[in-house]
Amino acid sequence: MTENKNKARAYLTVLPGRGVDRANLLLDGNPIGKDGQVTRQPITIDQHKVAARASRWGEHTLTTDKYLANGENLELVYDGSELRKMNQKDKSVPPPKPQEETRKFNVSHPHKIGFIGRGKCTGTLTISSSVVQYMPSEGDHGWLWDPRSIVSITMDGEKTIVIKTNDNKKEYTVNDAKDARAILEFWEKARKTIK
Ligand SMILES: [Zn+2]
Repeated sequence: MTENKNKARAYLTVLPGRGVDRANLLLDGNPIGKDGQVTRQPITIDQHKVAARASRWGEHTLTTDKYLANGENLELVYDGSELRKMNQKDKSVPPPKPQEETRKFNVSHPHKIGFIGRGKCTGTLTISSSVVQYMPSEGDHGWLWDPRSIVSITMDGEKTIVIKTNDNKKEYTVNDAKDARAILEFWEKARKTIK
């Protein structure tokens, strides 16, 4: 693109929508921007074809108005379904992230034969993406895991939950298979958001 300093020009800004795969951007067929975005790139006041390409959804294009105002910043946004003009909602501050989801389950910790004292302790198993913890209502069998260290949480039979790390394995019993499955399901969800 040849530029004449005296010539009026406009600007082009293209940003990805929230949570969208970064696309490759093209202006009249030429790659522009970096990491799927471009900010205030000077453009001639003319009709331009802007395209956003991503392997997942192909290509979205938008042809600009040829009557752009001098100094106008044309702001576009793309998502998985279109490339369009940015609106107020796109510009607004993103809403705060929902609070990390945490769930607590009532479990008991069976004591192996040979353990002095009662046959089990009971307490709460807390699960979230930042912490997994067993907190007994009595006794000192509490245990804290860094979720990143957990290799698996599985069921052993109907009422036993097995939490495995590379160097350790803990078993807890729950009331029924429904509770056990709820723990497994919630863990599957929480582990996907581990940072
Ligand atoms: Zn115990």
